[in-house]
Amino acid sequence: MRKIERIFVHCTASSQKTTVSGILAEFRQKGWRYPGYHYLVSPDGTVTQLLDEKLVSNGVKGFNATSINVAYIGGIRKENRKIVPVDNRTQEQKAALRELLAKLHFKYPEAHIMGHRSIWGEDHPERWKKACPCFNAEDEYKDL
Ligand SMILES: [Zn+2]
Repeated sequence: MRKIERIFVHCTASSQKTTVSGILAEFRQKGWRYPGYHYLVSPDGTVTQLLDEKLVSNGVKGFNATSINVAYIGGIRKENRKIVPVDNRTQEQKAALRELLAKLHFKYPEAHIMGHRSIWGEDHPERWKKACPCFNAEDEYKDL
């Protein structure tokens, strides 16, 4: 079994109307063999498994071999014709994410739950290459 050191939380950085198959198509377009995430949480709270946890998904370069990647659909909005990061998780997504992360953490108790951007330090927004997942996941899930 892979040693899981981190459970990463992502946003898809797409409209909340994007479908699971639309996101899978994006990964295929990028030429990726495996999807970016193991699990995807839709706005209605549905959790879809995209990849077996034994396999390596394409979530955070340099960390994938020892990680599980989880994402919610959303994370952007348009503002003055610009795309800006936003935490637009629905209540259903928040609940489903929390439940999924609790389950994963129970299975991999050694793993640290963190956001994609947490690799650059939650306290250092100037270092973030992406705002993903657009909220402080380390803080929100520290009790799990
Ligand atoms: Zn990400």
